[in-house]
Amino acid sequence: MGTDYYAQTVIGIRVPRSKLIGEEVGYMNNCICTPKTYSFTRYCPNCGRETKREVRTNKPLFQELADKQGYMEDMSLLGWPVRQDFSDAKHFYIGMHASGLVNHDSRMDLPDLSEDVIHEFRSDMNSLDLWDEENFGLWTILLCSH
Ligand SMILES: [Zn+2]
Repeated sequence: MGTDYYAQTVIGIRVPRSKLIGEEVGYMNNCICTPKTYSFTRYCPNCGRETKREVRTNKPLFQELADKQGYMEDMSLLGWPVRQDFSDAKHFYIGMHASGLVNHDSRMDLPDLSEDVIHEFRSDMNSLDLWDEENFGLWTILLCSH
């Protein structure tokens, strides 16, 4: 048992989480009566539990991300890898390239950074309205497993 930390290098853009993950609001009936009380009042008059409890859940804004929910390490958009820094829940990183996870110094082969690949990445991100010149670069992020 323990906590393991890994670093990962992503060449690409950092985007606010809210651009990829929205929120869905639903309701849950916590009444424990038999039969359940369905009421327009917030609390059940018999058991006192909430009959319309608001529940907010994450809702990926892109189907490609929704398909991989729960498998964060496999997320991608238009085939480009999508990663998240575990210590920062406010951003995602979309890469032209993402290295493997490392927990010690590690050399990686330089990926193809030709104009063609950068152009393709940029136009894919533009098509999703995610391209952000100022946040394009080399990112090092921290991941954690326990
Ligand atoms: Zn009840």
